Amino acid sequence: METHELQIAIEQMHERWKGATAGEVATYIPELGRADPDKFGITLATTNGHIYQSGDSDLPFTIQSISKPFTFGLALEAFGAKRVAQHVGVEPSGDAFNAIELQNGSNRPHNPMINSGAITVTALLHEKYGNETFDMILERFSLAAGRPLSMDRAVYESEYRTGHRNRAIAHLLLNFGMVHDAAEEALDVYFKQCSILVTCRDLAVMGATLANMGMNPITRAQAFDLATVKCMMAIMFTCGMYDYSGEWAYRVGVPAKSGVSGGVMAVVNRQLGIATYSARLDPRGNSHRGIEVCAELANSFGLHAFDCLNMGSSFLDTLL
Ligand code: GLN
Repeated sequence: METHELQIAIEQMHERWKGATAGEVATYIPELGRADPDKFGITLATTNGHIYQSGDSDLPFTIQSISKPFTFGLALEAFGAKRVAQHVGVEPSGDAFNAIELQNGSNRPHNPMINSGAITVTALLHEKYGNETFDMILERFSLAAGRPLSMDRAVYESEYRTGHRNRAIAHLLLNFGMVHDAAEEALDVYFKQCSILVTCRDLAVMGATLANMGMNPITRAQAFDLATVKCMMAIMFTCGMYDYSGEWAYRVGVPAKSGVSGGVMAVVNRQLGIATYSARLDPRGNSHRGIEVCAELANSFGLHAFDCLNMGSSFLDTLL
């Protein structure tokens, strides 16, 4: 059988970028500093259930901020858009993911893709699900990944012990009434959700689940409500790459989310989930190789939402 064009493309990209050494492994969560900076994986999952992998695509790492669009979706399902909007905005902040600032006037975090917004979202979930919150999150993430996921206890404990900045953010939110009184418990769930272990393959399937209107394209399980998938992708499109989100939309042009352990998940609506792993981060906390590979994929296959120079998504359709 002939090797698929997408498989050839990601193998070539892996080859081209595997020697790149730009960027630094995150160390502010001490346990993350143990990551091997040379590990590098790329996986694509299509909405009709094909998987293409190259490099270290089965290596587990913690999901970190890539959990944020998913918990946002869960909050929208549980509370509806109106209630969620009272607690968190949908405006790009233009600031770092861990910025200690809230919107003028409303005192809401700017958006749910930065730490303050994500902690608020998890606190909302905690208000409703209490001690069951983390299990509920893990179950829904597992449904999206198509296998039972688990948590990395060492990373969780490391972040719990050293997460003073996030703790300060949680207390600031508590001061403004944006989170309920059990802010510490909610923060604990937030640390746990960030410590869920995934592989590139898992993230690609989770991305493909979003691309496939919330239904896992392999197991056919409906992981997220149809109506919230639109909101999850919209917020990833405008805010998913922190203070690089504008440039990302300009250059790559698809919804995406990154995390400080080195993962990037991108979604080509109705077609593809893309995941990369490389722990070397740029100064904004995005995986350096992840950005470059996604940009190359977008260019090669016309994935950018507004691409009209090449054949755009119709070209990809012929490949799937
Ligand atoms: N757990 C990390 C933190 O809160 C997540 C941040 C990220 O991935 N950018 O600092």
